[in-house]
Amino acid sequence: MTTTNLYDLSPLDLERSLADVVSPPFRIKQIEQWMYGHGVTSFEEMTNLPRELRASLAERFTLDFPEVVETTPPASDGSQKSLFRLKDGNRIEAVYMPMGDRVSVCLSSQAGCAVGCTFCVTGFFGAGRNLTPSEMVGQFFTIQQMYSEPVERMNVVFMGMGEPLLNFENLIATLDILYVNLAPKRITVSTSGIIPGIDDLARLPRRPNLAVSINAPDRKRREEIMPITKKYPLEGLIAAMKRYPTERGREMTAEYVLLAGWNDSPRDAIALAKLLRGVHAKVNAIPFNEDPNLPPWMKRPSDRAIDTFVETLVEHGVPVTVRRSKGRDIAAACGQLRGRTEPRRKRTA
Ligand code: SAH
Ligand code: SF4
Repeated sequence: MTTTNLYDLSPLDLERSLADVVSPPFRIKQIEQWMYGHGVTSFEEMTNLPRELRASLAERFTLDFPEVVETTPPASDGSQKSLFRLKDGNRIEAVYMPMGDRVSVCLSSQAGCAVGCTFCVTGFFGAGRNLTPSEMVGQFFTIQQMYSEPVERMNVVFMGMGEPLLNFENLIATLDILYVNLAPKRITVSTSGIIPGIDDLARLPRRPNLAVSINAPDRKRREEIMPITKKYPLEGLIAAMKRYPTERGREMTAEYVLLAGWNDSPRDAIALAKLLRGVHAKVNAIPFNEDPNLPPWMKRPSDRAIDTFVETLVEHGVPVTVRRSKGRDIAAACGQLRGRTEPRRKRTA
């Protein structure tokens, strides 16, 4: 008999599963508090439950998280990346990023990515299976405990390995678990532009922030580096962004990976500003992270080129932030830590 990992259940399913085993009902609330408030990984830690109840829970259920196998030394900005090993041997990454008075954790949603963007190490190594809710919340709580951060101080971004909107059901269960202690505005889901997934998110009663990887100022160039554009065209994607409801005080993010000499000219900035006209979004410019697995022509622009690009956007009325090499020294872009230890593969066309 396989035992259910309680972290794989949404809070609603957890209550249903526990109802047969646990009484009185306030005990269920206590269990939820230990799990969603503290991220405990054994029933023994639930010290306010009777011993017999802890024992009978342990016979029926588990509370497993993936295991950390490596953590990089802190980068100059304090960010640190951790590599996790999953039960089936797959490896995934999560990143801890201090941000002023808050911290952000970047989570992976899949153990690889089938979308295959040509500038991305995760895409280079190819598709991987969907992560379960326990594997996603496990990254969150493990990092939260590693750094002893109060849960309320944390932001979550799904910008690690994988395409979260291609793992929709598990993503929703994970969001529901995180929402117990985190307001939806503290959570951002980043997508390569899976239009039906964006529309499904838009219909949820509680919505995370949406970040969309735009990365090129026109359809032709986007197709070159993001083959998914053929399936979900750029025009349709912009329309989906316009449909996505944003609450007061919140806005979407258009991510834009800056590649030297390719999409980083002032003219490209103007084209991007035009493309985003009517979209309630700020741009997050991400200077390309170089990696030996990626095409050698792809280079990070000079700081001057980055500054000019940003200034041009601002002049055209587009709010913009720059991800100043979030730990360039720790191979910060998704998949790069795992990529360093993966057996070398020839890039397939
Ligand atoms: N699959 C989702 C989320 C994971 S990728 C998505 O594509 O949005 C998170 C971000 O990292 C994306 O904006 C992507 O464009 C960016 N990224 C991927 N590889 C990169 C690299 N080598 N340098 C800089 N940014 C990169
Ligand atoms: Fe997948 Fe995002 Fe990487 Fe593209 S950038 S291959 S969608 S993880």
